[in-house]
Amino acid sequence: MKYLDEFSNPELAAGLLDRIRKVTTKRWSIMEVCGGQTHSIIRHGIDQLLPDQIEMIHGPGCPVCVTPLEMIDKALEIAARPNVTFCSFGDMLRVPGSSKDLFRIKSEGGDVRVVYSPLDALEIARTEPDREVVFFGIGFETTAPANAMTVYQAKRLGIRNFSLLVSHVLVPPAIAAIMESPTCRVQGFLAAGHVCTVMGTQEYPPLAEKYRVPVVVTGFEPLDILEGIRRTVIQLESGKHEMDNAYPRVVAPEGNPAAKAMLADVFEVTDRAWRGIGVIPASGWKLSPRYREYDAEDRFAVEDLHTSESAICRSGEVLQGLIKPNECAAFGKQCTPRNPLGATMVSSEGACAAYYLYRRLDLPAEVAHA
Ligand code: SF4
Repeated sequence: MKYLDEFSNPELAAGLLDRIRKVTTKRWSIMEVCGGQTHSIIRHGIDQLLPDQIEMIHGPGCPVCVTPLEMIDKALEIAARPNVTFCSFGDMLRVPGSSKDLFRIKSEGGDVRVVYSPLDALEIARTEPDREVVFFGIGFETTAPANAMTVYQAKRLGIRNFSLLVSHVLVPPAIAAIMESPTCRVQGFLAAGHVCTVMGTQEYPPLAEKYRVPVVVTGFEPLDILEGIRRTVIQLESGKHEMDNAYPRVVAPEGNPAAKAMLADVFEVTDRAWRGIGVIPASGWKLSPRYREYDAEDRFAVEDLHTSESAICRSGEVLQGLIKPNECAAFGKQCTPRNPLGATMVSSEGACAAYYLYRRLDLPAEVAHA
C-alpha cells in the first residue's frame, strides 16, 4: 500500500475483522497504550466491530492526560511571572490546574504563547534576550528528541534565558506498572508505534517474557490497529507471549540512533508521577547534570509545589483501564470538553474526550443493569 487512506480501506478492514473472528475462541482484554490509537479505535468504531469476546482497554498513553496536576500548577506559577514568556503546544493551554489554566493566565496578562516546535521558543529567547523563555516539555519518547535537541542548541549557542519545564514519561515502565497492579485485567498490549520509531523494539521482549504478555507494536490507522489486534489474539489463543512488530513500515528494531544519542546526552532517567496513577519508578526523564542549568523547576524554584487531584474525577481509573469513561458519574454532565474536570477530557487524545466526541454516552450494559 502506498497512500495513507488505503490503511482505512473498508473491504480490507472487513477481511481483517473476519480473520480476527475466526481466530477468537475466548474472552480477551487488550490494552492499546497510546491515546492516538484510542482516538482511532473510538472514531472508527473498531471496538464495536470486534467480536464480543475482545475488550479494548484504553491505556495511559495520552501525554497531556498523564501530566500530573502538580506539573500543571508549576507551569501556571512560572507563566504568571512578569518577566516570563511561557511557550507550549496548544493542547496544554486548556488543561485545568488546581484553580485555573494557562488560558486564564494569558487572559490575566501573562505572556503565554502557543508554538509549533520547541525551537520556536528558543528563537523567541534569542530575539528577546530580556525575557525568560520557558518551554513546557511534556510527552513520551516521541516528543522528547525535539526537546532534547532544543536544550542542546541552547547550550551550544550560549542562550541562557531559555529553560525547559520537563515532564517526560516512558512507556515500558508504565507497561510494567500496569502488569504489577493487583487489579490488572490486561492480557495483551498494542505498543505505540511512534514511540518505537524513536526507541526501537528492544525494550519489549523482556517485558513480554517477564509478564507473559504479548506486546505487538502497532500503528494508528484502522488497518494497522486491526492487524495489531489480530496478531495479539493469535498469540493469546496459542499461549504465546512475544514482542511482535506489526508496524515495520515505520519501526526499525534499533529505532532512531541519532535521536537516542541526543536523548542519552541531554536526559537521564528519573522517577515520575503519572496523573491518576502515581509515581512509577524510573518512568521518566529529567535533564542530565550537563544541562541542569536549563531546568525551569530549578531556575524558578517551584520544585516544592504540591497539589492534590479532584475528588470527583476518576481519570486515574480510566487511565488504568479499570472503568470506561462513561462509567464516571460526571461524564457528559459536570465534565465535558468545554468544562473538563480532568485531563482525559481535555486532550483530543484523552479517552473521555474521545467517548464524548464520538457520542459513546451510554453506559456499558453490564454497568447499566448492575
Ligand atoms: S469524565 Fe471527566 S471527571 Fe470523569 S474521569 Fe473523565 S475527565 Fe474525569
